[in-house]
Amino acid sequence: SIYTPNENRYAEMTYRRCGRSGILLPAISLGLWHNFGSVDVFNNFIKIAHTAFDNGITHFDLANNYGPVYGSAEENFGRILKKGLGAYRDELLISTKAGYDMWPGPYGNWGSRKYLIASLDQSLKRMGLDYVDIFYSHRPDPETPIEETMGALADIVRQGKALYVGISNYNAEQTEKALAVLREYRVPCLIHQARYSMFDRWTEPDLLPLLKKEGVGMIAFSPLAQGMLTNKYLHGIPENSRAARSTGHLQREQVTEEKINKIRRLNELAMERGQTLAEMALAWLLKDDRVTSVLVGASSVEQLLDNLKALNNISFTSEELERIESI
Ligand code: NDP
Repeated sequence: SIYTPNENRYAEMTYRRCGRSGILLPAISLGLWHNFGSVDVFNNFIKIAHTAFDNGITHFDLANNYGPVYGSAEENFGRILKKGLGAYRDELLISTKAGYDMWPGPYGNWGSRKYLIASLDQSLKRMGLDYVDIFYSHRPDPETPIEETMGALADIVRQGKALYVGISNYNAEQTEKALAVLREYRVPCLIHQARYSMFDRWTEPDLLPLLKKEGVGMIAFSPLAQGMLTNKYLHGIPENSRAARSTGHLQREQVTEEKINKIRRLNELAMERGQTLAEMALAWLLKDDRVTSVLVGASSVEQLLDNLKALNNISFTSEELERIESI
């Protein structure tokens, strides 16, 4: 049966302006890094995508090599679009990226013009799209001149294959250079995608202030530290969790006693606030207006619905914030 979205899909979500741009992003966006590959179950992930859109999540984030296998998340998202969601293309903000390993040989990785342009053409075919809304350089390439990488992004916009461009995993210094080059090409950088959670604070000293000053949006990936900032690992590593699955990027060794101890104390605070730990972890990021959106993953509809509840309370007392810092 053809998908009919919820008529009230825009009632609950909040939207935030992405830097100094015309784009509003949902406070919660959905990433397809895990759970949408050829190893995953179609009937499960199509429901996750529909639940997202039904609740005002307009932004879906992909990359060329999401899967596994590489490319399969884009292919599967293309199938989801064909099965009805694609009728709402103008209500969707779809991103993809290139920058990590994708195909063999010297032209399937990093930041050359050759790689970025060929990869986006492949991505568009896999998803069955004429254009993406955002195309990212997925990581800085120390060997390629920044003028070449940013020049490729600017040309992709001129060709109409992407409406906006972004960068991901660039540190503050690399970001400053990239923004300056893009400005010369008169293609502003819409957004920076960086890892940010209560457990990973690398963006706080330099990158976040820079993005604020430059008017560039920020979308936080792995805001739940790949599932660690939830109640799921409190009593060991459950079967089928990302840390247990061989295709998951979270390693068992990363779920240490020290981490579990912190998770337990954070979970107590979340319960006092009347939230799950997942909700509190997302709310904690969204309390900062420099964070345009939090980019969650979900392996089930239930997880996504839990994450959406974070929006019910994103304010913290100074005591609560101090307790989080001390943990
Ligand atoms: P999260 O930190 O949100 O982790 C998502 C995982 O956490 C889920 O797959 C699930 O794991 C678990 N989870 C989610 N919600 C809940 C819940 N309510 N209760 C319990 N467990 C929950 O984000 P990801 O690491 O998945 O990253 C999100 C997106 O960010 C990616 O899809 C991608 O788009 C982007 N990203 C970008 C990168 C880049 O370099 N630019 C790098 C990494 C991610 P489980 O399977 O165990 O149930």
